[in-house]
Amino acid sequence: MRALVLERPAPAATGPLRLAGAPDPVAGPGELVLRVAACAVCRTDLQICEGDLAPRRLPIIPGHQAVGRVVAIGRGVADWRPGDRAAIGWLGGACGTCRACSAGRENLCRAATFTGWDRDGGFAELVAVRADFTLRLPDGFGDLDAAPLLCGGVIGYRSLLVSGIRPGGRLGLYGFGASALLAIQVARYWGCEVFVATRSPRERDRALALGAAWTGGYDDPPPAPLDAAITFAPAGTVVIAALRAVDRGGTVAINAIHLDRIPEFPYEDLWGERSLRSVANYTREDARAFLDLAARIPVRTEVEVHSLADGNLALARLAAGEVAGAAVLLPGA
Ligand SMILES: [Zn+2]
Ligand SMILES: [Zn+2]
Repeated sequence: MRALVLERPAPAATGPLRLAGAPDPVAGPGELVLRVAACAVCRTDLQICEGDLAPRRLPIIPGHQAVGRVVAIGRGVADWRPGDRAAIGWLGGACGTCRACSAGRENLCRAATFTGWDRDGGFAELVAVRADFTLRLPDGFGDLDAAPLLCGGVIGYRSLLVSGIRPGGRLGLYGFGASALLAIQVARYWGCEVFVATRSPRERDRALALGAAWTGGYDDPPPAPLDAAITFAPAGTVVIAALRAVDRGGTVAINAIHLDRIPEFPYEDLWGERSLRSVANYTREDARAFLDLAARIPVRTEVEVHSLADGNLALARLAAGEVAGAAVLLPGA
């Protein structure tokens, strides 16, 4: 098969991915092999390719928002058939027995494995996945539309849950990339008033078009205190700005797997039972709940399509903030 292989992290502009031939993956016990139709590019892929996230295995095939069809079924898998449409996200597996897994918090499993970081991912024609972590997609989404929902969408949804925002509440979104674009659609569906802070004039226009009540810069105070906020920008200063904008009792949920650092801030910014929480990964239950909700709303996102050979271009465009919705690789193209 053909795949995009990362041998050594390097700046996106220098083209860290190499298009190469790789052995076809085999479906081990409990696994499926999917023929990848579409794989969206996530900021986390960029952070792995550039080395902001330390590699867990090299060489590795990145990509963790893949939609495809089942082409091979390993021993012990009963509930999948050849040709079934299937999808895989960031959570590639969890142990199933630790305290976190037993408590329904597999997103916090210390033995969890991640697609495109621990195991080869979807920037390839074929990918082997754990059958029990493979997702079914509701009808109504094409492969292209579904791919960007699998990480940005699901984790955005978990961020909404972690932020504690209630229907009709006042929600702040700090940064307005692929994940926020999807989260605002859920929040608007819940009747929330949404305030979007971003440096980018283009992103402000996009936010207003999706029903934001207000847009501004990171340090502009929103016109009313927020019940909750989610930060998407991977900068600690933005976390502090969000904390200053939430009302007493409000929560700031940090949707970032990598953050530079959080600068020192006065305790009075946290005082009044404000909370600061990180959002780590997601559970399969989050994924199923979000995909059903997204099909009902329906959540839509703009996609730009690239062939596998243009993987480095897609990464560079994401790094430069040039991707309007989500970049999606089509390994069959
Ligand atoms: Zn576990
Ligand atoms: Zn991701």
